[in-house]
Amino acid sequence: MQGPCLATMPAPELPCRRGVSSAVPSPATGARHACHIARLYLTAQTYRHPAYTSYTYRRYAYGVKIARVESFRIGAQPDYEGSAGLRPTATLGGSNPSSSGLAPGSGFETARAGRTALGRNGGRHLCVYPARAEALLVRIVTDDGLVGWGEAHAPPIPRVAQMLIADLFAPQLIGRDPLAIDAIWDALYASMRLRGYSTGVMLEALAGVDIALWDVAGKALGQPVYALLGGPYRTRIPCYLSGVPGSTVAERVAGARRFVEEGFRAMKTSIGRGALDEDLEGVEAIIEAVRGKADVLVDAHGVYDARSATAAGRRLERAGAGWLEDPLPPEDVDGYAALCAALDLPVASGETECTRWQFNERLRRRAADVVLPDVCRAGGITEGRKIALVADLYNVPWCVHASISTAVHLAAGLHLAAATPNFLLCEYPQSFRSSPLASALLTQPIEYADGHLVVPSAPGLGVTFDEGALAAHTLDPYAPVG
Ligand SMILES: [Mg+2]
Repeated sequence: MQGPCLATMPAPELPCRRGVSSAVPSPATGARHACHIARLYLTAQTYRHPAYTSYTYRRYAYGVKIARVESFRIGAQPDYEGSAGLRPTATLGGSNPSSSGLAPGSGFETARAGRTALGRNGGRHLCVYPARAEALLVRIVTDDGLVGWGEAHAPPIPRVAQMLIADLFAPQLIGRDPLAIDAIWDALYASMRLRGYSTGVMLEALAGVDIALWDVAGKALGQPVYALLGGPYRTRIPCYLSGVPGSTVAERVAGARRFVEEGFRAMKTSIGRGALDEDLEGVEAIIEAVRGKADVLVDAHGVYDARSATAAGRRLERAGAGWLEDPLPPEDVDGYAALCAALDLPVASGETECTRWQFNERLRRRAADVVLPDVCRAGGITEGRKIALVADLYNVPWCVHASISTAVHLAAGLHLAAATPNFLLCEYPQSFRSSPLASALLTQPIEYADGHLVVPSAPGLGVTFDEGALAAHTLDPYAPVG
């Protein structure tokens, strides 16, 4: 239906910062004000949701801007290695980060102590985990007081992402329209493109900013993020528990059976830390224990060469595993392509990758059957949506990767999962369930029921921090907004 003529329509009443209705533009306000009014009508014709229209009034009338961009390191000392089924944790302080006796922020205590959470590849560490769990939260505040939270996947060097946000991104963000999310992402990414800072910690920092902007947008418009993304395809997100705990095969089998009793229909266990035969015998025992009730996914953390990976894949295929994740070092893209061609068992990879371009390269070469982008590493929700779309072009499903993190990380992944057609499974770290940095920091935990995580439905990401708990785990000076 054709809308009314703008020239004959009455002027709308506009909410005003001082609560005064300033409905009719005076002749003195000139063409700029008239243009704003016209855009209000056009927007109201296009977006009929009252919340959107209400915020659009405010936005066009007063030009809401980003006022503050901050980031906070948070830390705690949970038994995340033991609870994730990795090597048992040595004695390292209590739950309060300040009581751990570790230098705040250094993060390399694990390496100095000679302990590694995961295995080695010919003596090379695949990664170093910090001795404590830690994360970097990003807080964006608008000049009308809205607060958005994001997270950069940061361990063990949150101070690097923090410095990028403070010195590089914040000066570009202050004063910008917080709803111009795509344009902001493009500007921040482009600001370092020529210098080649287009992956890794740069994208982790950008992810934190991006997720905070989506939280702002949802709160401003009164909608959950998944609705702004065009969803939902689903609001109950199928998940797999990641990390079968236990130091012996018998303990892991018992743990796997408990997970089935809790409703999980998929779980993930690790290999690559010992002799191949011994590792695979352990996995086969777990598969046998839950056969017909749950899928067992297997993560090799990139430790094998091509022959070992092929042998492991064929044996796991015969045993009935769900997928083989990261069997090769991530740089060996041709090796992944050959392995995908050789095995019927799906090969999953991608937690190391960032941006649509990196994922496209792996997918174009048929080097992954399932991709595992981490929304807090790969560039945030904006880029995660594009990565999912690229995967869909190749008819490949994607799964949420999650790791040591807060509920902001998990919520961002859930909203993206709810709004993309080719989503498969969400990683639900076993360590998340007991981490003092996860649901323990929220006024209301993210809901789990019967093998599914429920996407928060409140505006934005739908997570609200208990400010006292957050302050107690923040390693930087912290104060609530307002
Ligand atoms: Mg993995």
